[in-house]
Amino acid sequence: MAIRSIKELAFNGKKALVRCDFNVPLEAGKITDPNRIEASLDTIRYVLAQGGAAVLCSHLGRPRERTPDLSLKPVAEYLSNALGHKVNLAPDCIGDITGRMIADLALGRALLLENLRFHPEEEANDRDFAHELARGKQIYVNDAFGTAHRAHVSTAGVARFIAERAAGFLMLRELEALRALTENPAHPYVAILGGAKVSDKIGVIRNLLTKVDAILIGGAMAYTFLRAQNETVGKSRVEEDKIDLAHDLLAEAAKRGVAIVLPTDHVVAEAPAPGPTVAIVRHIPADRMGLDIGPETVAAFVARIRDARTVVWNGPLGLFETPEFAHGTLAVGEALANLDGVMSVIGGGDTAAAVAGHPWAARFSHISTGGGATLEYLEGIELPGVKALEV
Ligand code: ADP
Ligand code: MG
Repeated sequence: MAIRSIKELAFNGKKALVRCDFNVPLEAGKITDPNRIEASLDTIRYVLAQGGAAVLCSHLGRPRERTPDLSLKPVAEYLSNALGHKVNLAPDCIGDITGRMIADLALGRALLLENLRFHPEEEANDRDFAHELARGKQIYVNDAFGTAHRAHVSTAGVARFIAERAAGFLMLRELEALRALTENPAHPYVAILGGAKVSDKIGVIRNLLTKVDAILIGGAMAYTFLRAQNETVGKSRVEEDKIDLAHDLLAEAAKRGVAIVLPTDHVVAEAPAPGPTVAIVRHIPADRMGLDIGPETVAAFVARIRDARTVVWNGPLGLFETPEFAHGTLAVGEALANLDGVMSVIGGGDTAAAVAGHPWAARFSHISTGGGATLEYLEGIELPGVKALEV
């Protein structure tokens, strides 16, 4: 089954429902990071330039009912500036007043619907609500990759009530990069996994074991694996109830010939507090915790990725929020970004945040905006928001 690009559809004279991810951080009613809005502008501008009218919709936060603080009003203002015409905010995403605003919307113009999650039917994927949301639109465009793992009305249910459907540019970029990891990836293919918990990433590890040549494990999750190998890890974060699972995963990797590379040295401190006294050790003393990979491990990881042709990275390699424990993440990140001839894909909200703002981060092949959607994709789970676009 295929997914169409918006370039394959004719927008002229039509009204398109465009599902965007405008779930931006707000402080006192002001947008503190407009990245997600910026990321959808290509798609919106394309629909308008082709002579279509764009009916934009998104969720914001997790309201269960109408919540004035979670109005999309600041987004409408941002869009008005970005698009150069007044983007009105409809008082709701469905209903008579909104219906009239959609009917009156001129071609080449955008209208923003109010927060979809003011209606609990949105997350319940309610059929009648889907029918209402579809009213008056001839094309459905989904550009909200970040919510593609949710089977909600605006991401899935609405599609079948609208005549034509297609993926927006952001969605297409995400799918292209992620497909390069699952459909015929160039080998050697190396995964770098880190982050807080093994339990968050079990599905990802299992699926990657069937695809990659090596998995490099850092972050807090490494200590559960080290414990499975009877290493002493002091006070490091260990999921006691996942030690057996880690043991099984190591055995599974050995059986499949997938190399698992664990840290051999660590940056340790007494506690994850700011301004810590740190040391670099091979064996973690009983009263210390491992909070970053050490320089020998960084070198071993870099040596592995230097020979790779495909690298996927999810999960920071240390407690990067504290500068003393950010070095491993940044050193491996910079080395990966600067490699030529490697398809490098970064996934995971915290991983993306860890590399954001560093000049070399622009050199990765792709930094996924997906968070949970990217992780589910890497687990091999079919995303409902992608499935709904199939024609
Ligand atoms: P992502 O969002 O990229 O999928 P995760 O949410 O799995 O990543 O993990 C990110 C968190 O893991 C960060 O808050 C980071 O501080 C934490 N972390 C990484 N290494 C360690 C460690 N050694 N000890 C404690 N926390 C760690
Ligand atoms: Mg996270």
